[in-house]
Amino acid sequence: MSNKPIAAVLAIHGGAGTLLRSKTTAAKEAEYLAALERILLAGQAQLSAGAPALDVVVEAVRQLEECELFNAGRGAVYTAAATHELDASVMDGSNLQAGAVAGSSRTRNPVLAARAVLLHSEHLMFTGAAADAFAASHGLEQVAPEWFGTELRLTQLRAAQAGQRGARLDHDVETQSSGPIDDARKLGTVGAVALDAAGHLAAATSTGGMTNKQVGRVGDSPIVGAGCYANDTTVAVSCTGTGEAFMRICAAYDVSAQMAYLGLPLQAAVDSVIQHKLAAVGGSGGLIAVAANGDVSLSFNTEGMYRGYARVGEAPVMAIYGDVS
Ligand code: ASP
Repeated sequence: MSNKPIAAVLAIHGGAGTLLRSKTTAAKEAEYLAALERILLAGQAQLSAGAPALDVVVEAVRQLEECELFNAGRGAVYTAAATHELDASVMDGSNLQAGAVAGSSRTRNPVLAARAVLLHSEHLMFTGAAADAFAASHGLEQVAPEWFGTELRLTQLRAAQAGQRGARLDHDVETQSSGPIDDARKLGTVGAVALDAAGHLAAATSTGGMTNKQVGRVGDSPIVGAGCYANDTTVAVSCTGTGEAFMRICAAYDVSAQMAYLGLPLQAAVDSVIQHKLAAVGGSGGLIAVAANGDVSLSFNTEGMYRGYARVGEAPVMAIYGDVS
C-alpha cells in the first residue's frame, strides 16, 4: 500500500438504454441530473464524515429507489401479470459478506432488505414472500404492492404487451417516456459503488427488473458476481442491462477477476466485459465501478446511462449521454 491519502468516492447509476435526445426537453434532462446530483452530494457528505462504504451505497440506492424517475422501488416496472417483483443486493468488499432479495413485492426499500440479510442472516438470499417476511421481522417498512406502481409504468406494460415497442415508440414518447432515455427500452436498474476513507469498497444494486418479464423471473441484479460485486483487493461493481446476459458472463465478478488475475487496470477490465464479452452474448447495458486505487469507470454499450460520481472534496460529475464522461 502506498502512503497516498485515499480519496473516498461514490458512483451511482440509474439505468442504461436508448436515448431520446431529440425528443426530450432541457427541463427533463435537468430533472434527472438534479436527482443524481442530490444523491451524490448526500453520499459525498457521508463519505467525508467517515461513513463506511457499505452505508453510503445502501443509502444512495435507497434514495434512488424512492425517486420515481428510476425503475427500482417506487416507479418500478411491471411483470407480465401487472405485478411488481423487486430484486436487490449489497456486498461488502472488506469481508465478502453479501445479502440479496429476489421477487420482493412488499418491502418499501428492497436494498434495505438486502442489507438486513447481509447483517442478520447466515444465508445470502431470500425470495418472494419469505424475503418480505424476513425484512418485516427486522423492522423494515412494508407497503401494499400497488405502492410501487405508477401510471407511466402501467402504460409501458400495456404498450409492450400490445407489441408497440420499437420504431413507433419514438413517435409517441410523450405518453411513454419520462425522460431522455427511452423508458420502454431502458434497462432501469439503479446502483451505487463506493470507496471509503478507510479503503473499503462496497456495491449495491436494486431493480424492478424488465417490463413485461415473466412472473418469477430473476435477473442479474440480486446475483452476487453478476449484477453486483465488491472486493477490497480489486473493485466494487454494479451493473444494469439485460440480466440474462450479465448472468451468463458473470459480469461483475469478471471485472474483478480480470484485474486480479491479469493485472488489468480498471478501464481495460471493464471494456473487456462491457464492450466485448457482453456484446458477444447479445447483451446490452452498462456498469459503474470503483477500484481499490480510487479509479472510477462508468461504462455502457447502449446510447446512454444515467450516471455520476463524486469524490470527496470535488464537485460531483453527472451525465446521461454517451458523449460526456
Ligand atoms: N438488470 C436488470 C434485470 O435484468 C434490468 C435492468 O438493469 O434494468 O433485471
